[in-house]
Amino acid sequence: MNIAENLAVIRKLIPGNVQLVCVSKFNPHESILEAYHAGERIFGESRVQELTEKHYALPDDINWHFIGHLQTNKVKFIVPFVSLIHGVDSLKLAEEINKQSAKIGKITDCLLQVHIAREETKFGFNEDELMEIIYNSDLEQYTNIRIRGLMGMATFTDDIAQVRNEFKTLKNLFDKIKSENFSCLRDFDILSMGMSDDFQLAIEEGSTMVRIGSSIFGHRQY
Ligand SMILES: *Cc1c(COP(=O)(O)O)cnc(C)c1O
Repeated sequence: MNIAENLAVIRKLIPGNVQLVCVSKFNPHESILEAYHAGERIFGESRVQELTEKHYALPDDINWHFIGHLQTNKVKFIVPFVSLIHGVDSLKLAEEINKQSAKIGKITDCLLQVHIAREETKFGFNEDELMEIIYNSDLEQYTNIRIRGLMGMATFTDDIAQVRNEFKTLKNLFDKIKSENFSCLRDFDILSMGMSDDFQLAIEEGSTMVRIGSSIFGHRQY
């Protein structure tokens, strides 16, 4: 696997308005540095300890995104340096990110994770819960988080129509929320959807941020 070559191929498939998050979980520092030297600065990790360790070891100008399921008791470890948290899936988690961010005088960018897949194992709000959070919760009082948009993962399936539909659902929710022009959602502009196997579909359906791991770094060794 040549990481720089993989990146060159992927970049050609991603329009300029779509951001690439290089998902580096389970990959060694050398692989991340290869992508870094090929020009990438946004990397995504899904485990707190691994992210923290890589953040200390690797160049300071990397933007680290947390893309996994975040436990409230671990928020404090990553808030000081993380630039975007993709998987906010409960009000309790949002509250904790807000609290830890306030402690250090930071405003942390977050995405609300929406459950769009058929699998029950994937985290996230369902549509009703999402609307409840947006319309009825006190998001406004959380002044140390900035909700930048939505994140979702499609079902793991070969059924392209199914995947496309799930992305469409997420895009519709995104547009609907955006059109409300809530004062606490002034910067609602990121739709994070699409991975190695489905990012082109996701882009066709309106993704603004794709999270790609194995197509860049090769298959992960867990
Ligand atoms: C691992 C992971 C990815 C990347 O998956 P690939 O199929 O390797 O591209 C994207 N998003 C999330 C949330 C992940 O956990």
